[in-house]
Amino acid sequence: MAVAWLEDVRSTDLGTVGGKAASLGELTEAGLPVPPGFVVTADTYRTFIEEAGIDEELFEAVDVDSEDSAALAAGHERAHELITGTDVPASVREEILDAYRSIGDGEAFVAVRSSATAEDLPDASFAGQQETFLNVTEDDLVERVKECWASLFSQRAIYYRNKQGFPHDEVDIAVVVQTMVDAEKSGVMFTSHPSTGDPRIIIEAAWGLGEAVVSGSVSPDNYVVDRETGEVETATIATKKLMHVKDDETGETVEREVPADKRDQRVLTDAEIERLVELGRRVEDHYGDPQDVEWAVAGGEVYMLQSRPITTIDDDAGDEADAGDEGDGDHLLTGLGASPGTASGAVRIVTKLDHLDQVSDGDVIVTEMTMPDMVPAMKRASAIVTDEGGMTSHAAIISRELGVPAIVGTGSATRVLEDGQVITVDGERGTVREGQSVAADAAPTTESAPAESGSDGPSAAPASKPTPNTATEVKVNVSIPEAAERAAATGADGVGLLRIEHLVLSLGKTPERFIRDEGADAYVTALTEGVRKVAEEFYPRSVRVRTLDAPTDEFRQLEGGDEEPHEHNPMLGYRGIRRSLDRPDAFEYELEAFKRLYEKGYENLEIMFPLVNDGTDVARAREHMAAVGIDPEKREWGVMVETPASAIGIDDIVDEGVDFVSFGTNDLTQYTLAVDRNNEHVSDRFDELHPTVLDLIGEVIESCRAADVDTSICGQAGSHPEMVDFLVRKGVTSISANIDAVGDVLETADKVERRLILESVR
Ligand code: PEP
Ligand code: MG
Repeated sequence: MAVAWLEDVRSTDLGTVGGKAASLGELTEAGLPVPPGFVVTADTYRTFIEEAGIDEELFEAVDVDSEDSAALAAGHERAHELITGTDVPASVREEILDAYRSIGDGEAFVAVRSSATAEDLPDASFAGQQETFLNVTEDDLVERVKECWASLFSQRAIYYRNKQGFPHDEVDIAVVVQTMVDAEKSGVMFTSHPSTGDPRIIIEAAWGLGEAVVSGSVSPDNYVVDRETGEVETATIATKKLMHVKDDETGETVEREVPADKRDQRVLTDAEIERLVELGRRVEDHYGDPQDVEWAVAGGEVYMLQSRPITTIDDDAGDEADAGDEGDGDHLLTGLGASPGTASGAVRIVTKLDHLDQVSDGDVIVTEMTMPDMVPAMKRASAIVTDEGGMTSHAAIISRELGVPAIVGTGSATRVLEDGQVITVDGERGTVREGQSVAADAAPTTESAPAESGSDGPSAAPASKPTPNTATEVKVNVSIPEAAERAAATGADGVGLLRIEHLVLSLGKTPERFIRDEGADAYVTALTEGVRKVAEEFYPRSVRVRTLDAPTDEFRQLEGGDEEPHEHNPMLGYRGIRRSLDRPDAFEYELEAFKRLYEKGYENLEIMFPLVNDGTDVARAREHMAAVGIDPEKREWGVMVETPASAIGIDDIVDEGVDFVSFGTNDLTQYTLAVDRNNEHVSDRFDELHPTVLDLIGEVIESCRAADVDTSICGQAGSHPEMVDFLVRKGVTSISANIDAVGDVLETADKVERRLILESVR
């Protein structure tokens, strides 16, 4: 038999039907509403290659050196050609088509998905690609099945198996053929909280077919439901711009804009949530473990499309879950959830720096806005709440790097909260509640030891490769050397932005005053040491260090700050490359520090200049680099694209010989939309995904690709799934994200890349 019906499949059939089909069979058996379908078994694939006599040539073709990308591509192409170019025996073909005709009277649109059988392989997801073809009809069915078979030899799959020494002939692939649910709405559901494991069902929902939610290309609505009582605790309604639907004429899946009246409309009714929760409970009961379920609603019915165990639950989070982190306190305040995590503690209102030593371990710092001097206290704190600031403010950036939950831009925290009051801060949702609902010892750890600094040159730290291994490099942003170890542990491909503002500001004096008082060598040494910690932690992965870019108002509080110019609008003023070119001495001392690191062997360092407007700015910066003895031809260097002028005039910038450009979307957005990035009164207008911002980015990527210049993003938006989707589709070289977002960005990039491959073979 070439096919097996889903209702006859059980988890014990894993070896012949693959993980996906086995799970669907289990769900069907448990009486859950699974769309009907069948599976073309792994034996069918195996018999096909063997009887056609292509097996040996196939395995030989993919036996290549994984590091040789040309050989990898050639192996993949040959394997694809062999499989798709060979006829399926007539008897098998008929059996597949007969099965198809018996569902939906042969008129059905079906989904065709690969279901790999080597699920015990450590990187099982690479064993067979998650190929999915939607809205397939009889005419294409057998071809699509063959393409699923061929997906076993995608470049990525070949790479991984070769790397892991896993023989190609030991991996088989089955294919699931299942009636399409022409979904009006769909999404995912976690039957328990995906990080704490507590009894909360989290549902994400968007309009149309599920691809948009699964690939992370839209921001879905988010519903949190108490699994025991069924009470909807929070319903966060997102603006849903895109949806995937079946094109009525071609039957293909297409991306459409969500009609204006549905964009901000709540996707799920109470009745649908109730039904989903009931199904979620049954699925979890059936498996005995929390599940991550894909679901869809069509014609008023809720369907289960897939279920997998949740693997992200943190076992240590149990205390937090037991503490029931909400429900027993009122919302005192809301703001922007700037750094995820939930923590309780006593409020410590900090108005002056000399109050900092009153912050004890586990207190919640409440302040207008954090400053560099506060970092030691921020490390002790269980959470941070500020009156001012947006997602890219100092408080937000540093809290994320320290892993301390934070809420910014509450407008009134220092007035509404009282010293000593015990509160619970939810840094994901941006809410402050009265009372303690997280056990004190469950507070997130904030310790992160700096890199060992005993040695003088780089040591070959193992650079663990992140999984999934995306073609788009995924890097991480670092602003404080203390976060280097945490950042490196993400497995990111390197540091896409190392800010040195914090390093300089924490010297307590403006650069000019510091140099005057303590000497240039002390300044160079301080910078060298700070940057070295990060370069060391990541070696040999690249670290892109940026020259100083702090607005004058951030220098004012420091010694020497009274000598800073008074500006009406520091964001439009004397900052970035403007200040550096105007104060070449201090600028060259920064460059001198980087040169010392090159001399110590940290050739993984790359240099980036901020806030350039045009080719002239770039040429002048390059001259200073050459003047201190850093050869621009030998070292990797580039600039930030963060003003509309630099984006529109990108060709002139490229002509100056940059190796890369990196989008500073925090600034690019504020300058393009004229929205102060730190002003909470207009934070609802700060839209990094604004079509004009995206147009500028898209054009720059295109020009840079034509000129063979790498592109990257290091603004906050690089951590946003919709931006990742956009950039990967445009062909960006790398994405640099916040520490806590690296994993999600990798996953989104991976899904988008796979979808692109899928689209390219259509
Ligand atoms: C940006 O502008 O997006 C950026 C990364 O630089 P900064 O946030 O340091 O201005
Ligand atoms: Mg910037």
